Amino acid sequence: MRDAPRAAELLEWYDRHARDLPWRIGPRARAAGLRPDPYRVWLSEIMLQQTTVPAVKPYFEAFTARWPTVVDLAAAEDADVMAAWAGLGYYARARNLLKCARVVAEEHGGVFPASHEGLLALPGVGPYTAGAVAAIAFDIPATVVDGNVERVMARVHDEHTPLPQAKPVLTEMAAALTPDARPGDYAQAVMDLGATICTPRNPACGLCPWRGACAAWEAGTMAELPKKAPKKRKPVRHGIAYLARRVDGAWLLERRPDKGLLGGMLGWPGSDWGDDPQEAPPIRAEWKTIEAEARHTFTHFHLRLTLRTALVPMDRAPCRGDFIESSDFRPGDLPTVMRKAFDLARGG
Ligand code: SF4
Repeated sequence: MRDAPRAAELLEWYDRHARDLPWRIGPRARAAGLRPDPYRVWLSEIMLQQTTVPAVKPYFEAFTARWPTVVDLAAAEDADVMAAWAGLGYYARARNLLKCARVVAEEHGGVFPASHEGLLALPGVGPYTAGAVAAIAFDIPATVVDGNVERVMARVHDEHTPLPQAKPVLTEMAAALTPDARPGDYAQAVMDLGATICTPRNPACGLCPWRGACAAWEAGTMAELPKKAPKKRKPVRHGIAYLARRVDGAWLLERRPDKGLLGGMLGWPGSDWGDDPQEAPPIRAEWKTIEAEARHTFTHFHLRLTLRTALVPMDRAPCRGDFIESSDFRPGDLPTVMRKAFDLARGG
């Protein structure tokens, strides 16, 4: 007879094997009375949405070194925050990050609300993030379900309903297991189990504290779970980007509108993106087309950008964008797709 999975077994495992993460107060430090800084927990959770732990670490460290508190972040220039976020993707998160920091600084005296509802009312904080911050920062029993937790729940209960339809039932399963004691550690323990033991491929069941309670282990179905509905094929959109350099080395860039994809980020002026992009040169010039196109995949489509380059004289004015002196231009401030275009144009 299989045992029921118990939070206590997982917490015991977590006490010995918790990952060391720059935003985390580990179980030993927590038991000794140290409490996590809600600012760091919130910042890490926003950064981790759609992004992996290794990708987030250097950004998290750079952000917290430059803006050690939420009040510091609230006082930052928009352009500095967008530039520091460049490369992390999903740029709406960065805009909401700033909005949220300013609400916390101005309306809450620089202190994050210590309740699920209070957190949920903040800009850019959805149910998942509110639950994660409530549990991790404030030890409020909240059900926290990310991709790792969904995988663990589907396997422990041998649940074969495909995702995303299975989300509500997996959430119920996760809620039923969430303990009243140490909910913050428990939330992190399930995430760690999914990230290090119950991994998408080749789970290390031999090391798993829940093996005796795992229905998928008993049935031998671990590798099939969680089931996923077949993905829709992403369409391909095309566009043209114009990379103009003035003879003194300045580059012609424009800040994209706040709303929409890459909103608020610097980029190369260009056409709309679609099936048949129309020419939209930002300045009169002799444009050369470089052979390689910049390719990038967004959540809902693949983009192929044709790249045109030109060298322009000092006295020519653009109809879009502004020239940025070469000493002020940092390619690292560009979002990834624009950075790819730059690298290709520079090498082409
Ligand atoms: S026994 Fe294996 S499949 Fe089951 S929860 Fe543990 S690692 Fe995952």
